[in-house]
Amino acid sequence: MESVTVLGSTGSIGVNTLDVIRLHSDRFQVFALTAFSQVDLLLQQCLEFKPVLAVIDGSRNAIDLQKKLHNRGLKTQVLEGSEGYRAAASEASVSTVVAAIVGAAGLEPTMAAVRSGKKILLANKESLVMAGKLFLKEVLRYNAKLLPVDSEHNAIFQCLPSSDSFKSLSQAGVRRILLTGSGGPFRQLPASEFDKVTPQQACQHPNWSMGAKISVDSATMMNKGLEYIEACWLFNAAPSQIQIVLHPQSIVHSMVEYVDGSVLAQMGVPDMRTPIANCLGWPERIAAPVQALDFTQLMQMEFSAPDEEKFRCLALAKSAMEVGRDAPAALNAANEEAVAAFLNSQLSFAGIAEVVDAVMQSWHAGEPSDIDAVKHADKRARSQAINVISAKVQQAG
Ligand code: NDP
Repeated sequence: MESVTVLGSTGSIGVNTLDVIRLHSDRFQVFALTAFSQVDLLLQQCLEFKPVLAVIDGSRNAIDLQKKLHNRGLKTQVLEGSEGYRAAASEASVSTVVAAIVGAAGLEPTMAAVRSGKKILLANKESLVMAGKLFLKEVLRYNAKLLPVDSEHNAIFQCLPSSDSFKSLSQAGVRRILLTGSGGPFRQLPASEFDKVTPQQACQHPNWSMGAKISVDSATMMNKGLEYIEACWLFNAAPSQIQIVLHPQSIVHSMVEYVDGSVLAQMGVPDMRTPIANCLGWPERIAAPVQALDFTQLMQMEFSAPDEEKFRCLALAKSAMEVGRDAPAALNAANEEAVAAFLNSQLSFAGIAEVVDAVMQSWHAGEPSDIDAVKHADKRARSQAINVISAKVQQAG
C-alpha cells in the first residue's frame, strides 16, 4: 500500500485526486488530508478515507473538526495551521504527497515534502514559480521525485523520453516544447471590454472546472505565463525552447517537437483525473474515472498564437522569467494580491495586469540565497501591490 498525503484535499485538484484514489483502494491509503477553512467537506472526506491526520487552519476550526470526528467514532488526529501542513507533508510513513494547496501558501508544505524525499505530485505551480532554482536544488539534494500534475506539464512529461534517461532537451533530440492553452473565456473578447468583466464571468472557464484563483489566472492568461515559468524549470528549458500555442478545444494538452520533425502530442478529454492518475500510478498506468476521447465527435482542432498585447499578464510573466532571480516570485505575489482584490470586487479585471505591471516596473531583482529570501521578496511585492491597489481604489472612489 502506498501511503498518500493530499495537501489541499478540499480543492478542485484535491477532490479529483480522491476520485482516483477511491478507484484504487487496494493500492493507496490516505495518511493525511488538509484544508484551509472547509470543515464540513474535510469531515466528509475523513469519514470516507479515515486518514491518520487531518489538518485545518485556525484553532476554532481544528477543535470543531476534532469534536465532530470524535462524535462519529473516528480516531483521526487533527492538527492546526502551518505546523500541521508540514507534519502531513513530511511524516516518515508517507511515500507520496499531492501538493494541491493554491498559491504561495503551498510553498512551505511542498518544501517540507521535498526535504523529506517524497514522491511529490506537483499541482501547486506557484511554489516552482517562486523558488525554481532553490526548489530543484533541494529536490536533488533530498532525492525527492517530482511529477507534474498540471495537465500541460504532465503532457510534456509523457511526450519526453523516460525521466531516468532524460538529461537535457538537446540531448534528447528535442527542438522545442509546444505549451498549449485554451486562451480562457475571453480569448475573443476585445480588450476594451475587460473593464466590465465580473468575477463570476472570469471564473467560468469554457473547458475546465477549477478553483477561483486559477480560473481568474486562466482568464488573464497569467496561468499560461506561470506555466511557462514552471515548464522552464521542470524541463530545464531555455525560454526560447518553449512556444505557447492557443488551442481552444483543450484536447491536445501540449506537445514536444523533435529535431527530426516528429511532434508528439498527449491528448484526452479535459479532465484533471487523467494527469493525476498518470502521476499516482507512475511509472505504471492506472485507470482513471474519465470519459474516453471520441475522435468521431471531434468537430475541429484549432491552433493559433496568443495575443500578448491583449493578455499583458502573459508578457509580464515571460519577461519576469527572463529577468530571473526573485522577479518571478514578485510577479506571483503581485498577481495573487491583484486576483484577490478582483475577486473581492475592489479591482477591475483590466486592473490585474496594471497592478502586476506597476510592481514589476519598480522591482529590482536580487538573487534569493534561500527560501526565507524568497518569502521576503514575496512579502515585499505583496505590500507594493497592496499600495497600488489602494491608490486605484481611492482614484475610482
Ligand atoms: P482550490 O482553490 O480549488 O483549492 C485550494 C486548496 O488549498 C483547498 O483545499 C483549500 O482549502 C486549500 N487552501 C487554500 N488556501 C490555503 C492556505 N492559505 N493554507 C493551506 N491551504 C489552503 O484550488 P485548485 O485545486 O484549483 O488549485 C490548487 C493548485 O493546483 C493551484 O496551485 C493551481 O494552480 C494548481 N492547478 C489546478 C488545476 C485545476 O484544474 N484546478 C490544474 C492545474 C494546476 P479550503 O477548501 O478549506 O479553502
